[in-house]
Amino acid sequence: MLSGPFGVGKRTLAKLLCLSLFCLEAQAAPCGNCKACKRLDSETHPNLHVIRLNPGEKSIKIDQVREMLSQLKRYPLEQNRRAVILEDFDYFTPPAQNALLKAIEEPDEATVFVLTAVNEKAVLPTILSRCRLQRMPAWPDDVLEAFLTDKGLPAQTARDLITLASGSPGTALMLVDDEDFWQLKSKADSALSGLAELSGLPAASDLLKDYRQDASQLLDYLESRAHVVFSAASSQTHDPEEWLTASRKHREMLESIFAARRLRASNVTWQGITDHLLLNILEEQHSCHW
Ligand SMILES: [Zn+2]
Repeated sequence: MLSGPFGVGKRTLAKLLCLSLFCLEAQAAPCGNCKACKRLDSETHPNLHVIRLNPGEKSIKIDQVREMLSQLKRYPLEQNRRAVILEDFDYFTPPAQNALLKAIEEPDEATVFVLTAVNEKAVLPTILSRCRLQRMPAWPDDVLEAFLTDKGLPAQTARDLITLASGSPGTALMLVDDEDFWQLKSKADSALSGLAELSGLPAASDLLKDYRQDASQLLDYLESRAHVVFSAASSQTHDPEEWLTASRKHREMLESIFAARRLRASNVTWQGITDHLLLNILEEQHSCHW
């Protein structure tokens, strides 16, 4: 089982493990170019089974597992290996997970199961105890930056993405192409930079008024921005007093964002929520540039 945050490379590694099992180039496996590698990569290899969460569905049900298990039983076991990739295992319902217990505990010699999950707590202990667990951590900033510049992204874009992606190359690559996100970021940045005076509040509030539907994404962005500002402020100072001030402001910013999230569940209008949040931020403006 490969576990770790979203976008950290679990699916890629699961596939690489399978490529290395099936690759026809024994000396250079996984080569990525042979017939087996190509068919695995496109998930058309007859000896590969993949179950993952379908778009729009909330869980993976026992029927999907039974269907896969009966397919494994049906087709003849040749000397070739078989691989079963069970992605999003934290979305398998408990009955679906239970249905796999025996197969995972005593797989036939030719079959390999690779599971992936973000949330280990949603995996039954009986499954976890039968797996060899490999945790995949968030990527360090310098490794992620090298990865993104290797992909041809401009250095500034790469740095922007690093601060937003929380060590997840998958998230970074998803954000690159998300025009809505960059628009949201630009409006949120403008709203905050226009907040130097109380008189700037109406214009800032106006910039955020259309984000009621995307409130979660907006608040997530503000939260990551708060972390960035704090980490910049705290790395630039050696003065304990200044560090404490930055730390207090960071905490207050996070508390304001938390309050905004909580208010969303109440009857307060979106404008009421953003005005409350902006006022809180305005109060902090004098000694720290959020
Ligand atoms: Zn190959």
